[in-house]
Amino acid sequence: MHHFMDRTTCGLSTTLWTARFCGQAPHIWTTRLWPDPSAGTGHCGQKSSLADLDMNNISHWADGMAMLDHLPSNPLQEPARLAWSAMLNRYSHFQIATWGSLLVHEVAYFTICLPGFLAQFIPALRKYKIQSSKTETWQGQWHCLQLLLFSHFFVQLPMIACTYHGAELLGLNYSWETMPNWWVLLAQCAGCAVVEDTWHYFLHRLLHHPRLYRHVHKIHHHYTAPFGLQAEYAHPVETITLGFGFFLGLLLFASHMALLWAWVLCRLVETIDVHSGYDWPWNPLHLLPGYAGSRYHDFHHENFVGNYSSTFIWWDWLFGTDGAYREKQKLIQKGMNKKCK
Ligand SMILES: [Zn+2]
Ligand SMILES: [Zn+2]
Repeated sequence: MHHFMDRTTCGLSTTLWTARFCGQAPHIWTTRLWPDPSAGTGHCGQKSSLADLDMNNISHWADGMAMLDHLPSNPLQEPARLAWSAMLNRYSHFQIATWGSLLVHEVAYFTICLPGFLAQFIPALRKYKIQSSKTETWQGQWHCLQLLLFSHFFVQLPMIACTYHGAELLGLNYSWETMPNWWVLLAQCAGCAVVEDTWHYFLHRLLHHPRLYRHVHKIHHHYTAPFGLQAEYAHPVETITLGFGFFLGLLLFASHMALLWAWVLCRLVETIDVHSGYDWPWNPLHLLPGYAGSRYHDFHHENFVGNYSSTFIWWDWLFGTDGAYREKQKLIQKGMNKKCK
């Protein structure tokens, strides 16, 4: 973690704040961030020495750092370190990569699905349902859960087991000390999302080809009004081929096992959100530039055409495959404006 900071972070104040967030004592970072006069090289790789620095600035930074000592440390840092160390002591890398990843996936999947599942029982939330005339049925959800569990254990679990061997080939690290900071993991997840979205757009579009559609992708379109649990409801061929996009980003960015789990969480949050069937007005995911969202993917399920991307809008915009959706949105907006007049 520390050496990564040395390589990438040039903003002193940002580093100190995030160091505090991560529960690191500021003095550890100051010894790294202040250039060593004897070494002659700063943490950004530039030639520097203490003599070059303005003494007033040094005094201000020292005051700032003294203030940081009074901020509370991240209370989760130490329990997380102990839990991670206990896991490494108790289980092999194969067990962590395979059974650990399965556990992360299962717990995350059903936990993230829970709010959308509960929303169907709360009449006050009905106004946020995109296709409000099509309510979920017990029979439909039970059928979905059965295929989903089959897919998780008989299709995805072997894929996860292969991931372990891939991680070994790539030499991924498991230790706490080499784990990237949370903002590095988040940036890597964003990179994985861009790569996955590109793969998803072109392959998804191909799966809609009339010769292929009824053999593979039709299963995912069984539900015209999607709900969260249905996010991974798909033919095994689709799970493997579209799922390959999930691993592409890891090939580019992964240096630590933690990214696999962080990316699993990010990807599940995104795909369950776009399949939720609800357009929540306070959804923070819409703060992401170019985020497509549930209304975008709901249109795809309702109409079987256009909006092929998984996460972002730019590929559909670039190739004009979002035309029908944009037209519909314009009509809805016109209707709303008329009502207001
Ligand atoms: Zn489709
Ligand atoms: Zn879908």
